[in-house]
Formats: sequence, C-alpha cells, structure tokens
Amino acid sequence: MINFDKLNHYIKNELFAYDSPILLHRPVFSGNEKQYLIDCIDSNFVSSVGQKVVDFENQILEYIGIDHAVAIVNGTSALHIAMQLVGVTHNTEVITQPVTFVATCNAISYCNASPVFVDVDKDTLGLSPEKLESFLKDNTKQTREGPVNKISGKRISACVPMHTFGHPCRIEEIADICKKYNLPLVEDAAESLGSYYKGKHTGSFGDIGIVSFNGNKIITAGGGGMLVTNNQDLAVKAKHITTTGKIPHPYEYYHEEVAYNYRLPNLNAALGCAQMEQLTGFLKEKRILADKYNDFFQDLDIQFIREPESCHSNYWLNAVLLANREERDLFLESTNKNGVMTRPIWALMNKLPMFSKCQTGDLSNAEWLEDRVVNIPSSIPTPKTK
Ligand SMILES: *Cc1c(COP(=O)(O)O)cnc(C)c1O
Repeated sequence: MINFDKLNHYIKNELFAYDSPILLHRPVFSGNEKQYLIDCIDSNFVSSVGQKVVDFENQILEYIGIDHAVAIVNGTSALHIAMQLVGVTHNTEVITQPVTFVATCNAISYCNASPVFVDVDKDTLGLSPEKLESFLKDNTKQTREGPVNKISGKRISACVPMHTFGHPCRIEEIADICKKYNLPLVEDAAESLGSYYKGKHTGSFGDIGIVSFNGNKIITAGGGGMLVTNNQDLAVKAKHITTTGKIPHPYEYYHEEVAYNYRLPNLNAALGCAQMEQLTGFLKEKRILADKYNDFFQDLDIQFIREPESCHSNYWLNAVLLANREERDLFLESTNKNGVMTRPIWALMNKLPMFSKCQTGDLSNAEWLEDRVVNIPSSIPTPKTK
C-alpha cells in the first residue's frame, strides 16, 4: 500500500510550500515580461505585426538550431498548417500515436484526413519505430505518391509522432523509416522545447516541427505556437498562408488563395521573448525537481518516469507509473482530495468518439500505459508573488 500521507505531505510542504492548491503546471513570470508588454503597448504594435514577433521567431530558431521559424497563433493551428504544407489532404490518412493530446488528431481532421493509430514504446511514451515499420510493411503498398493503405485504399500522407511530456521518442529511427517509405514527417514537439535526442533538438528531425506556448507549457506566450523547418520553401509558404495569403504591397490588398489569420499577436510574442530569456534557468529547475521526485518515489517504491536513453528531456510534465489501474485510481483520489492536483494520462485517442472508427495497429503498450501513468505537479517551485 502506498504511503499517501507521506506523498501528499512531501508535495505540499516540501516541494511546493508556496502554492495552494498545488497545480499541475503554473507559469512563472520572473523576467522582463511586464517591461516587454509595456514596450509593446507604447509602440502601438499590439496586434498581428511587430518587432517582438520577429524577435521571438529568431530566438526560437537559434535555440532549436534550425533555419526557419514562423510564429503562429497556437500550437494546434501550427500543426494544421504543417500538415497542409506537407500534403495532408482530403481523404488521406496520417499515422500518429494514440497517446497524445487531442490537438494532434484534431489538426489531422482539419485537413479532412483521418488518423491511423500505431503503438508507442513503453519507455519513451512516444511512437514506436518498430511498430511503425511493421505497420508500413504489412499494411501498405508503395506507389509514386507514397505509401497507400492496402485495407482502406487511401494514401498515407504523413507521419506525426509526439514527444510525450517532453520525453523524446526515437525520432531518428522514425525519420529514417519515413524516408525509406517516402512519408512526410511532422513532429509534434508542442511539449518538448528544451528536449534533445542524441544532442539534436526535438522538432528539427522532420520536414516540419511545431512547438506550443500555451499557458501550461514549459514557456508561455499566453497562447501561441511556432512552426519550425529547415526547408525555406515551406517556411515562406507557412508565413504566407498564416497571414491571410496577402501579396506584399505597400498599400494594395490582394489575396491569391483562401488562407488563414493564424498570426501570433505582438503582445503574445513579447511575453514569449521574455520567457525565452529564462528558458535555460527553467530547464535547470525542472531537472532539479525531477531528480528530487526520482529519489522520493524510489523510497515509496513507485516508478518515476525518467528521460529515455540517449535523450535529454525538458521534464515538462512529470509522471509516475503505478502498478495497475486500481492503484492508479487510489493515487488520483488521495492526491486530488488533499489539494495536490494529479491526473491520469490522456484517454487514448482511438477511444474518443470522433476517432473510434479509425484504423489501429496493435496498441498493447498504449493500453498498458493508459492504466498506469499519472501526471504529478511539475511547476517550477518559486514564490508566487514576484
Ligand atoms: C499543447 C499541445 C498542442 C496544442 O498546442 P496549443 O498551443 O494548445 O494549441 C498540440 N499537441 C500537443 C501534444 C500538446 O501538448
């Protein structure tokens, strides 16, 4: 039996003594946030264009080590555009993992395509390269346009792995398989800013990667996203299609196609710039917290989920692995009742009504994780008023 008194006491009084209740992930604003917002207002540029947007894009591309970054209103919209640009179209299919936030699958649906679910690895919580390859080998035939699903007859237009809770999946192996099968790769790195696979930043392995700056992510812009790529053509198209498709001209308004207003407001970019300045510090604090949790849970005989081999994780959202579903439910009940916010990993995407008819491979690892994984408070422990 888990010593819940010890657990709740440790989280409330030792790790997060400043907070009440203990949230899963609250933002920290301890840098130039207020100043940059004031600068923005003083400049009159608070909306869809402005210097902070350009600055934020440059900070991100430098940090990730990639050629192009395009600021977008949120991570979901960035995913939508990323998929559209690599050729996800009506009546095609996109391979993704059942363990993800719903935004990944919603974005596939915005392109009128449908997800196909391939299993994850137990240690990374992300798409399994072995299962991906065997799915492609067994279920698709190669055509000039790329792999076609032998069962549905539909073209598979992209593969979208996700780096769960900031832990990188085996993205290099996945990228190799995608190349071999002529499959565009979009990386959902919404949760993994600051996470590396074999020294290379997540989001930079595929044709396009996306990052999110929602309020609960490792840094926040209030809301926001970024599309990153080494492909200049895709970057130019991404900017164009997310900024109403306007042909640049000093005063004339002419638009050549149906496009989107997916621009990140300058105000949000200002917040993002201030947060980026603190990212390295945040990451250090996150690692210290993860190490503390690791030691603590060892004493409780509960498995704390560590960064996978060859990876450097941002430890965005910490998680533990309980023995079974009963123990998981007891854990959730005891912590939440005592003001310590915890939550189970997302319901598997293939179990949601809108995706329940989608094709799946063998999902035994995902099912296993769904019964056992719980997220625990992961904020950076600092005084709230600063
Ligand atoms: C947060 C998140 C998104 C969406 O980002 P928003 O900025 O909230 O739209 C997409 N995918 C995953 C895995 C996420 O965690």
